[in-house]
Order: sequence, then structure tokens, then C-alpha cells
Amino acid sequence: MWPTIVNYKSLKVLMLCSIVTIPLQATEKQSFSIVIHGGAGWFSNLSNDEVQAIKDGLSNAIDVGFTALQSNQTSLDAVEKAIVVLENNDLFNAGKGSVYTSEEKQEMDASVMYGLNNQAGAVASVTNVKNPISLARHVMENTKHVMFAGKGAERLALEAGIELVDPEYFYSEEKLQRLRELKKEEKKMGTVGVVAIDVYGNMAAGTSTGGMTNKLPGRIGDAPIIGAGTWVENKVCGVSGTGHGEFFIRFNVAKEICDRVKYKNLSISEAANQVVDELQAIEADGGVIVLDGRGRHAFAFNTPAMARAFKSSDGNEFVEIYK
Ligand code: ASP
Repeated sequence: MWPTIVNYKSLKVLMLCSIVTIPLQATEKQSFSIVIHGGAGWFSNLSNDEVQAIKDGLSNAIDVGFTALQSNQTSLDAVEKAIVVLENNDLFNAGKGSVYTSEEKQEMDASVMYGLNNQAGAVASVTNVKNPISLARHVMENTKHVMFAGKGAERLALEAGIELVDPEYFYSEEKLQRLRELKKEEKKMGTVGVVAIDVYGNMAAGTSTGGMTNKLPGRIGDAPIIGAGTWVENKVCGVSGTGHGEFFIRFNVAKEICDRVKYKNLSISEAANQVVDELQAIEADGGVIVLDGRGRHAFAFNTPAMARAFKSSDGNEFVEIYK
């Protein structure tokens, strides 16, 4: 029990003060890195040009995030900026490229988490926000809540001056046809996610998606659920997931991986592979990107492919799609 002399209001003010006064100072030795995904799935029957276009999309996004880190911006900036690039690229199932619901509308989910003070923000089922990840960041930084959905989220965006677009902006003939053809048998994934560590040693993770093709209106997946699709804890681990969201929610996948790193002393690769194998055992498709507290990366996926890329200050970098 707190002693009764504690005044909660002043305690809160004190805590807030300590949040804003933590200096962000780059230590000379702190390396930085960024890992991204553009969805786990089949990526089958793609032409060489299509494969190259996906790789270029990943490269563009990771370069934007990496440049931010290089110029001493925070991991949070890097995550948001890289995800905005992916959201604006209609090859990925997020923002402009979002897939359709069973009623031929697009409803997007996104979340972000920042290791500095364990802050988090999320939005779900937004239909007219150009970059849902930026709204998720706004929720985190400028409201006292963590998650907004639907109309309330869209009103918040309007009030904050976050760019709104006519839902027509997200229109895609190809994705509409895909919905119509695949209404019964859906395999499409292509969510995007980023995890980064900056020169200050702070980690951030974010995930953004149009969800799963043919989802029922109002369905919310794992991407905006902190712990399911997105998780980060400074010095421990950060995760962004992609896959069959219902399972990621039920097994709290992102946090489960970091918990195994934290409490079982597993490497991020061991933890990620264990959890993804467990998903496979229950026929849940998906994958994850992971960074540890030192900026080392791991991937795990149980689908034939996961679009992914990594770049670090020590010069290591690659872009891959297939196993
Ligand atoms: N996880 C996303 C969802 O269930 C879908 C995906 O990753 O492709 O909404």
C-alpha cells in the first residue's frame, strides 16, 4: 500500500516531468539498426519484375528509416517514417494497398510502441486516414489513451490535422478482383512492420495493415493490439508480426517472444522460432521480425515467404522475400 501522504496528482506530474526531462544523448558506441517486413505469405506466381518491385519497396522504406537513425533521430521517427513509405506503396497491404473487407471497403489497423517509458498508441478500423501509423503515434504522444477505433479515431485525426483522404484513394481494382475471386479461400498477407534501435539505445516497433481480405466489417486483427502484433521493451527485444491475426491475438505472439528472451534467456532467434513453430502446429500462418536490445536481428516465418529487410550501422544489410 502507498502511504496515505502520497498525493497521486503530484506523483503523476512528477512522473510526467521525469518523462520529458530524460535527455536523449547519443553515446559514442551505440550502434543502430532497423528491420522491416512487408508481410508473410505465399508470394507465388510473381514475375521477376514484381519480385523486384517488392524488394525496391522494402529498400526505399528501410533507407528512409535508416537515414533517420543515421541523423540521430529516434527509433520512433525511423519506425513511423519507414512505415509511411510502405503505407504509401500499394504493393503492400497497409495504407494505400489495403485489402478489402467482405463488403468491399477498406478498414485499417496500426500500432506503435516506444521503449522509452513503454509508451504505446494504436488505431483500428479507420477508413479515411492516409497514414494510420501517424495517427497511432499521435494517440500515443498526445492523448491519455492507447487505442482508438473507427469514427472516434477518424475525428481525432481530423482535429490533429493528420491527413485524411477520400476512401476512393485506397481503391484498387486488382485487390477488389482478388476479393471477389478468393472470397472463400483467402491466403493474402502483406502487412508491414518495422522495429528499430537508435543511437540513444531506445527501441521502437510499429505495425500497419489493411487486415485480411474478406474479413467481416468491424473485425480487428492483431496489428493494433499491443503485445499481439507489436511489442518492444528497451534492452530486451522488439517485435512486429504478420499473419493470421486471430492467432497472434490469442497467443499474444509479440510479447510472448520477448518474454521468452527476458525470462528464459533465449536468443531472439530461438524465441521467435519456438513461437512461430508453435503457431505452425496449430496451423496458424505467419511470421515475425525481431531486434534484440543490442540491435541484432532475427526473422521467423512458417509461410513460404516473408518480405523482409535489415540494415545496421555496422554495414550489414539485405532484402529478401523467399526462404
Ligand atoms: N496480421 C494481419 C491481420 O490479421 C494480417 C497480415 O499480417 O497479413 O489483420
